[in-house]
Amino acid sequence: MQKFISVTKPSMPKLNEYVVEIKGLWKSRWLTNMGAKHKAFEAALKRYLHTENVVLFANGHLALEYAIQAFDLSGEVITTPFTFASTTHAIVRNGLIPVFCDIDPIKYTIDASKIERLITDKTSAIMPVHVYGQLCDTEAIEKVAQKHHLKVIYDAAHTFGIPNVANYGDASVFSFHATKVFNTIEGGAVTFSDSTLKTKMDRLKNFGVLVENDHVYFGGNGKMNEFQAAMGICNLRHLAAEIKRRRVVVQRYQLRLKDIPSIAFMQYTKESNYSYLPVLFKSKHIRDAVYTSLQEKKIEPRKYFYPLTNKSSIGRNGTVQTPVAQDVADRILVLPLYANLLMVDVDRICDIILEQKILES
Ligand SMILES: *Cc1c(COP(=O)(O)O)cnc(C)c1O
Repeated sequence: MQKFISVTKPSMPKLNEYVVEIKGLWKSRWLTNMGAKHKAFEAALKRYLHTENVVLFANGHLALEYAIQAFDLSGEVITTPFTFASTTHAIVRNGLIPVFCDIDPIKYTIDASKIERLITDKTSAIMPVHVYGQLCDTEAIEKVAQKHHLKVIYDAAHTFGIPNVANYGDASVFSFHATKVFNTIEGGAVTFSDSTLKTKMDRLKNFGVLVENDHVYFGGNGKMNEFQAAMGICNLRHLAAEIKRRRVVVQRYQLRLKDIPSIAFMQYTKESNYSYLPVLFKSKHIRDAVYTSLQEKKIEPRKYFYPLTNKSSIGRNGTVQTPVAQDVADRILVLPLYANLLMVDVDRICDIILEQKILES
């Protein structure tokens, strides 16, 4: 039987470490609603992220939705179509219109030089994404935003573990989903510069409650529970080691595949969190062939992010052309990457890729 290899596998602490962390919950019977673990994890994140304001959420998507709501945005939001559906859906579910800007062909992040021409009198914010953990051109984005008085909310779902990433723009939104480089099973957080928004966000995620029986916002339920927070406390202890092991895995792939002209790797830096391993093929034809061959051998790479969010069947503003994003989406493939991925498995994946005659075409 062939071993199934998924695109990722969540990192978990030793069972006993987690048990120690959650033991007290059997005594306190305080399972959610901002208990001791929630407080401790929020404090730990403030230190880790070097930021003043952190609010935890049940998941990254809700964190995006509540962050947008907290800023009272209206009209149009300029964003990227080269992202997970969540970014676009969070905008639309807040009653806003996403306006899609094309991306940079090297970094895959929003092309800051193309933002200004999309600004109208209805634009209220820019929502860029640090795709695969590659930081956007934050300086250029800041310049445009200041000139036109726009808010900047970063979808930072891929960037946890990169130094100083929490302090760009007005807010950054993190995902701690099981598939991310750092997980709290499900989970997310928003960091932001305006401290006056702290109580507002805390209330929004808890039905807008001010005091018992009084509600000051139309909030919902976005709370992170104690078991999630406990998982976060444990996983945070091991994150640095996780990232190091991921780097070793990436280096192995690069060693094996570097001489193939039809495959290009993303550039990692000293500060990378090695959250994803995207490779860009010379053509869609080659990408799709490699994808199919790997799947036939029970290996599951992912076409992140294909189709573009402005091209899916519910895509809005699908008429706006984003040719660079389209070209990247057609040729990209994200290969399996996680800390415990064995070198023999990396080699097997590389062998299958290298066997493809189509690579020479
Ligand atoms: C994972 C992800 C999200 C959503 O986070 P969840 O925690 O899964 O809800 C949002 N944006 C991007 C770019 C993501 O990759």
